[in-house]
Amino acid sequence: MEKKGVSNREASKDRGERRQSLCSVSGKCGGCQFVDMPYKVQLKRKQKQAELLLKEYGKVMPIIGMEEPAHYRNKVHAVFAFQKGRGIVSGIYQEKSHRVVPVENCLLENQKAGAIIQSVRELAKSFKIKTYDEDTGYGLLRHVLVRVGHVTGEIMVILVLGSPILPSKNNFVKELCKLHPEITTILINVNNKRTSMVLGEKEQVIYGKGYIEDELCGRRFKISAKSFYQVNSVQTEALYAKAAEYAQLTGKETVVDAYCGIGTIALAVAGQAGKVIGVELNKDAVRDAVTNAKINQIKNADFYQNDAGRFLTQMADAGEKVDVVFLDPPRSGSTEQFLDALLRIRPKRVVYISCEPETLARDLKYLTGKSGYRVREITPVDMFPFTGNIEAVCFLAN
Ligand code: SAH
Repeated sequence: MEKKGVSNREASKDRGERRQSLCSVSGKCGGCQFVDMPYKVQLKRKQKQAELLLKEYGKVMPIIGMEEPAHYRNKVHAVFAFQKGRGIVSGIYQEKSHRVVPVENCLLENQKAGAIIQSVRELAKSFKIKTYDEDTGYGLLRHVLVRVGHVTGEIMVILVLGSPILPSKNNFVKELCKLHPEITTILINVNNKRTSMVLGEKEQVIYGKGYIEDELCGRRFKISAKSFYQVNSVQTEALYAKAAEYAQLTGKETVVDAYCGIGTIALAVAGQAGKVIGVELNKDAVRDAVTNAKINQIKNADFYQNDAGRFLTQMADAGEKVDVVFLDPPRSGSTEQFLDALLRIRPKRVVYISCEPETLARDLKYLTGKSGYRVREITPVDMFPFTGNIEAVCFLAN
């Protein structure tokens, strides 16, 4: 999943020394390209790389790093499998393969979530629950996903099963909650497809309310199982603060939050804008966004379920006026349809948040061509310490 820019070996060569790695499975996992590099050096590397890719478009400011970079991930995933001699194991797929590497202690993951996954593994043994076999399609337990509310401490556990029935379900839930009373909700998600996607369509709540709530930027957010939520809460606040600074809102503006997820950016800035409009493709996330406006008593926010490109084109066709557009697309970046509509609407300011500098560079090239925008400033934010991933927020104006 994570991008592989630099190998572990290169990273440790960088320090000019070799010693035992902080992580016993880093060589097989491949998730943390920078696992054994001092954090300051990691930041320098990312700064350099961001500059390499982006400085031809505008000024790249110093990267915003973390004070305490370990265990930042509030969402933890483990794949389950049966291995001869080992029994049930849980962990991650070996780099570029479907072999499971058992993980006991991950440097990135929330530690409570890690402990819950270990308990699920122990309980699966004592309840004689079979793990799912990807080759044959037999067996039950495929993955476990745990989400932790950074501020609220609420915890969601999703058991991803190959078929909908979990034997001794009630006892399983009881035992798991006894071991981890901080769990607030448990769901079964059914994924019977031969796919690399973790979650399937169908889900069933077997304990609690089926979602968790968390607080971010002084607001409260409902987060459903399938909705996107930033994995590093501390850095998300830094990222959004920079995005809001770039937007220079005065209380009157009409603002679009494109690819809005559960409405976090829209609702964080609603108090400084006249009106905010969010658009998002995922139905559950849009539903969460609408609820989140209500929870926070925000009345000047509307959310639409649509493809962001199609939606913005409709706005341009209707001659709608927009002052500021935030966009935060997935790795693949935005689309020409979206960017064309943006150039037609021509908001005064555009704030582009990106988790993939290569597609950001491609889209900036498009937006700054012909009679387009000028990039005023770019700030990288380290959302994913120890990995090679780079996030950046970019401010464009006429
Ligand atoms: N801004 C949000 C979400 C960013 S992640 C936050 O910070 O939490 C990107 C989001 O884009 C995801 O929620 C994903 O479901 C959504 N998305 C992906 N493709 C889309 C499309 N074509 N149109 C609208 N939203 C899309």
